[in-house]
Amino acid sequence: MTETAAELFFALLCPNEGERKHAEARWRVAGVACSHFSVRVLLQVQPSDGEQFFCPHCGRPMPRYDSKMRRWKHLDTCGWPTFIKAAVPRVSCEEHGVVMIDVPWARPRSSFTRKVEARARRGAGRGSIAEVARWLPMSRDQVERLVNSGSRGRRKRAE
Ligand SMILES: [Zn+2]
Repeated sequence: MTETAAELFFALLCPNEGERKHAEARWRVAGVACSHFSVRVLLQVQPSDGEQFFCPHCGRPMPRYDSKMRRWKHLDTCGWPTFIKAAVPRVSCEEHGVVMIDVPWARPRSSFTRKVEARARRGAGRGSIAEVARWLPMSRDQVERLVNSGSRGRRKRAE
């Protein structure tokens, strides 16, 4: 992938300028695969070489403990379902144990990118859950869970 394409990828993936710069500094696009058989786009992302990682709870820097493969549903690319895949590093924090680092494009434990979640919430606020589910596309249950988890998350942060 050319540098320009990688820049475009991060610009499309990250919700704002700060997140984009953070992602570009710490992650790189390892490959893009388009599967005509399964009709999907898969973007493989990996941490930049030599990157130091941070405990998501206390923010202390620490080395990689191991990695776990994760996959997120992103907004479609030209009508093709698009997924982000990455081996996300875990760190071993003395205080918080073995925990996965945060990624800039998704909330912890979510299987959707922030862009998908934002679009689902915006759509649900304007129309019906069924319309949002058809448009994204995802199941009605997925949209409802997503919208509800977002409001719970916002409430929790506000407390
Ligand atoms: Zn910690």
